[in-house]
Amino acid sequence: MPEERCLVICKSTTDMLRADREMRRRGFAFRAVPVPGELGSVCATALEIAAAEAAAVEELLKESKVGVISIAPAPRTRLAELMQKLDGKRISLRFGQIMEKLQEGVALDREDVLDLLRVEDGSDGEALFQAGDLMRKRTVGDTVDVRACLEFSNYCRKNCLYCGLRRDNKGLARYRMTEEEIMAVAVKVHKAGIRTLILQSGEDPYYTEADICRILREIKQRTGMRITLSIGERTKEEYAAFRAAGANNYLLKIETVNKKLYSYLHPGDRWEDRAKHTGWLKELGYVTGTGNIVGLPGQTIEDLADDICYFRESGVHMLGIGPFIPAPDTPLAVYPPGSALMTWKVIAVARLAIRNVYIPSTTALATLDREAQKKGLAVGANTVMIIVTPEEYRDIYRIYPNKMAVDLNWTLEMIGELQRKQPVGIKTTGCV
Ligand code: SAH
Ligand code: SF4
Repeated sequence: MPEERCLVICKSTTDMLRADREMRRRGFAFRAVPVPGELGSVCATALEIAAAEAAAVEELLKESKVGVISIAPAPRTRLAELMQKLDGKRISLRFGQIMEKLQEGVALDREDVLDLLRVEDGSDGEALFQAGDLMRKRTVGDTVDVRACLEFSNYCRKNCLYCGLRRDNKGLARYRMTEEEIMAVAVKVHKAGIRTLILQSGEDPYYTEADICRILREIKQRTGMRITLSIGERTKEEYAAFRAAGANNYLLKIETVNKKLYSYLHPGDRWEDRAKHTGWLKELGYVTGTGNIVGLPGQTIEDLADDICYFRESGVHMLGIGPFIPAPDTPLAVYPPGSALMTWKVIAVARLAIRNVYIPSTTALATLDREAQKKGLAVGANTVMIIVTPEEYRDIYRIYPNKMAVDLNWTLEMIGELQRKQPVGIKTTGCV
């Protein structure tokens, strides 16, 4: 029997960070995980502990005057109706066994994850997608979260082998948006009723800590939107300063957990450092995102299973899962793209294994095929990022070619076709 776990849910993010510090100091084993949707709280992060230590932790937090809402057993999401839904489908014995585990709310192990990724594109495949969709509905509901992504600079000091923005790609025209240009977009996005703005760029040290902090403060002051940063690796001190200036979320993908593949793809970089950065972001109270690229040259299905297990272990709130798209003028230009089918499977299995997490149906998936993005939402994903980068820069933010211009109108159409809900407050007049 797996060990019973409890969740400590605090009154605020500050309380959660204090609980984190106190528990660390006293040597309690715990990890920070997203608060399950059904428990909903002000702070998006809970601390997961062994049930056997619940009383001792409660005592400690009381002594330290940490505001706690509850310390209670982690809910097991049971998919009670799952087998009934799959009744009449010709599913294999092994697939049925895994579905029974889900029905009972039992966590999947690595072998289950791997076997699910191996299902063929037949009855088991369709059933997997249905199960992923059902788990999405039970854990994060029917609303498709729409976030806006502003790609404000395509300069990059890194040389990731797969990416069109890598520094050795000398043929690419480069741009940097001014603070005024960034603000103009932020205000427009806010007017459209969107609640989260993602600021994304290459790793561009031109924008200093002070610059980013100023931009964050001004966006917060003028719009009050939640802000996600996706600007690559910075120092721990910079992450702390950005957080204090108003950044809520940080997206930094691990890309692959295969360490050998990681160092081949990221010249001069170590996997352990990347993982350490995610740890820092969580420690600083960010709602943190990670993710991978599906179909990287040399990547195996075992690697993908390990990616999913790592995602679960790291206890993040958001997973960016997108197919590899070969970019011209990069060392990987001649390799074939990742498949939409495998990307859907990774989304569905991640949803089943991790449950309570935001999973976008990515722009990379839309770039393979528009319908592929819609299907991503139908197999476990619950978020879409629309691109709000000004027209004149859009084409040269060329991480990969022919990047799909996912816009608000198309996204709302997709949500309607899937009979899902759009976020409250979105204006349908196509302001962005
Ligand atoms: N520089 C920042 C953010 C911009 S890159 C960073 O690297 O974190 C955002 C994401 O684009 C990366 O995390 C990577 O997963 C994805 N990406 C880059 N090149 C890609 C390609 N050729 N195919 C698919 N995804 C790619
Ligand atoms: Fe730069 Fe990010 Fe592209 Fe790597 S993936 S080259 S860090 S923009």
